[in-house]
Amino acid sequence: MQRIFLSPPHMSGKEQKYIKEAFDLNWIAPLGNNVDALESELSDYNNVSGASVVSSGTAAIHLALRLLGAGTGDTVFCSTLTFVASANPIIYQGARPVFIDSEPATWNMSPWALERALDEANKNKRLPKAVIIVNLYGQSARIDDLMDICQKYNVPVIEDAAESLGSEYKGRKSGTFGDFGIFSFNGNKIITTSGGGALVSNDMKALERSRYLATQARDQALHYQHSEIGYNYRMSNIVAGIGRGQLEVLDQRVSQRRRVFNRYVEALRKQSGFSFMPELEGTKSNRWLTALTVDPEKAGITHFDVIEALAGENIEARPVWKPLHLQPAFEGSEYYTHEEWYSFSDELFQYGLCLPSGSNLKETDQDRVISIIKSLLV
Ligand SMILES: *Cc1c(COP(=O)(O)O)cnc(C)c1O
Repeated sequence: MQRIFLSPPHMSGKEQKYIKEAFDLNWIAPLGNNVDALESELSDYNNVSGASVVSSGTAAIHLALRLLGAGTGDTVFCSTLTFVASANPIIYQGARPVFIDSEPATWNMSPWALERALDEANKNKRLPKAVIIVNLYGQSARIDDLMDICQKYNVPVIEDAAESLGSEYKGRKSGTFGDFGIFSFNGNKIITTSGGGALVSNDMKALERSRYLATQARDQALHYQHSEIGYNYRMSNIVAGIGRGQLEVLDQRVSQRRRVFNRYVEALRKQSGFSFMPELEGTKSNRWLTALTVDPEKAGITHFDVIEALAGENIEARPVWKPLHLQPAFEGSEYYTHEEWYSFSDELFQYGLCLPSGSNLKETDQDRVISIIKSLLV
């Protein structure tokens, strides 16, 4: 049996045209027509003033933190239930992460935990340089509540929309609410350039500066002069060509992923102990990954039983992200729980898993996944 992956790339067939254009012009470099076009197509799609495409989503977060002046001795608040890349750039900048728990309606940052954390930081006169809000598995966080709290304390927001490109919150695209939004085009994301990312913002001056920083901070001079330390974070013109071909089918990919999610729900929702990741009213998730929890008391099996049974049939499934406050690399970091004595993300990690969710997942393959799960339940 052919392996079924969690979230494999899904090409549109339109990518080669843009790559060929770059070859025909011999523009095999960072910068170039595909880069410019992808930036404007991405800002149009998301209805923001501008975008700057870079080598990865992680690079985009790093640039956003640098632009907001996060450095040694500073703190940055970050969702705990996320991929490690959300927080690593905090460390690159010599700042300290403070992790914020999830809440049940979105699995994303708890406004209640954030409020407590900011209130305490304010009292201690050490407000964070930024709050990184993650939109997990495509689901938007409680953006209005979170933005209100951040505005109350005048703390800038970076929206980590690496997993939520194409998702919506009250009709507006995910990733466009903070001072900066970031997207990822890594191989496993809803669209991919094989590797890449983007920073979006309505602050065109900040984006201009991000391009300068991403190009080794080169001054305007013939002789390669540098007044600051920069990075080599630009996206290549070839890679941007893949991005253009992918962006054309993004809305289709969202529908396909949502369809996969709905088929799982249809097949498994009546199983006792199975709870699928919710979708907050007024939001539309791209359902990047189908995530659910399995309560062993009610289901009679654990999420590991599901993962193992699928692995035995050459099918990839995974636990939900291990919360960052539990990661050895971040040991000793401060952490604010959803309720004073209760960590919701710990519970999600204890019971949560992600099922194969590719937009190119064949119905027959999905039916195999479903029947293997069902066979555990009889
Ligand atoms: C994938 C991902 C990133 C990092 O993106 P890369 O392009 O792989 O660097 C950041 N945050 C989250 C939540 C992600 O899932």
